[in-house]
Amino acid sequence: MRYAIDCGHNCPPDTGCAGIKQEDSLTLAVGSRAMKGLLSLGHEVIDCRPGKVNTVTQSLGQRCLTANRQKANIYVSIHFNCFNSKAFGTEVFAISETGKEVATSVLEKIVALGFANRGVKDGGKFYVLRNTDMPAILIECCFCDSQKDMDLFAKVGPDAIANAIVHGLTGIAPLDETNFDPPSIRID
Ligand SMILES: [Zn+2]
Repeated sequence: MRYAIDCGHNCPPDTGCAGIKQEDSLTLAVGSRAMKGLLSLGHEVIDCRPGKVNTVTQSLGQRCLTANRQKANIYVSIHFNCFNSKAFGTEVFAISETGKEVATSVLEKIVALGFANRGVKDGGKFYVLRNTDMPAILIECCFCDSQKDMDLFAKVGPDAIANAIVHGLTGIAPLDETNFDPPSIRID
């Protein structure tokens, strides 16, 4: 399979939200590890992050263009949410039926790490989901302005989230999950 991986933002003026941690650094930490995991399982990976852009629209447009031109099978956009510092948990967006199946699978693996399940949601508002030709998902891993989520993120680490994403996408966890300490924080 050929996966297009979009590490959200990281391309000024397309910068992520500033929570307790900066979204850009989180999406890059998780996305780069997910790419490595997919490669280790023998998949092809397309890194969709653009070089230089002048506008946010250009940044989003180039990500889609890269995935479309290279005929990726699945597009995966990785983000961290930001709201009012009180909201927490994981949600995954998709538009197509196939996209929603992939989204459900990825969501299940991330919430297994202890994050609250906010569900699979309709992603019609997201440019990258509307403008990619293949099944596409946008993962809001958790909230970067939530102390609860950032504490759990610090505990499980970016490797565990990346591993969960790859596990959800492929059905195989590239890293041995026994390497991770089970989270002590449980959110019901
Ligand atoms: Zn974002």
